[in-house]
Amino acid sequence: MEIIVLLGAPGSGKGTAAKGLQEAEGVTHISTGTLFREAMAAHTEMGEAIRPYMDRGELVPDDWVVVLVEDLIKKSPAGQRVLFDGFPRTLGQAQALEKLVVGAGSALSQVLLLEVEQDALVDRLGARIGCTSCGTIYNLLTRPPKKEGTCDACGSRLSQRNDDHLATIRRRLRIYEERTAPLVAFYEKRGLLRRIDAGKSPDDVIGQICNILRRDPN
Ligand code: AMP
Repeated sequence: MEIIVLLGAPGSGKGTAAKGLQEAEGVTHISTGTLFREAMAAHTEMGEAIRPYMDRGELVPDDWVVVLVEDLIKKSPAGQRVLFDGFPRTLGQAQALEKLVVGAGSALSQVLLLEVEQDALVDRLGARIGCTSCGTIYNLLTRPPKKEGTCDACGSRLSQRNDDHLATIRRRLRIYEERTAPLVAFYEKRGLLRRIDAGKSPDDVIGQICNILRRDPN
């Protein structure tokens, strides 16, 4: 199993890039945020335990995250290429991932950092809406759906995420700086970090990543 990590602040376009890469490169997209939202919707034990953190825009404690990822890695077929979107988000998670990767005989091949100016992140998150069914992400300013409130791809209802409101957005960006940004140095030291100019259009960003994955497969 090969693991690729997408790193970047909330609103840097990780979800959109991951969906595009799943189509272009056949990688398996795993979003811990989506899995947590599904667990909340299904009212599982984990879903109920993590709900307060998710609603406040805070990070879910590492123990829950690591148990979830460990289970996913164990279940993944040997030759699979997995793209993690939103994991790891703390140094503790990054260290846990290193152990899991070694234990599973897998490799962490690349960490792709999506870089976007801070002001653009707030604008993007405030205007973001997503499909409740297929997960396609829209932006009311730059990429609106053809029909208001309806997904172009599958016709389901679009809605704003609970944590995409201004006060929560600011908290999530602050938490990113404090807890997740240190991972940039962590992966740079290991020679795994690749920087992407994510201020560009989704197609451009996906193109930059495809070039890196093909040129530099490790
Ligand atoms: P996302 O969809 O990646 O923006 O994640 C939404 C929310 O899920 C985050 O604000 C956190 O509350 C939680 N979450 C997702 N992934 C992680 C993670 N790796 N560590 C801690 N919390 C996470």
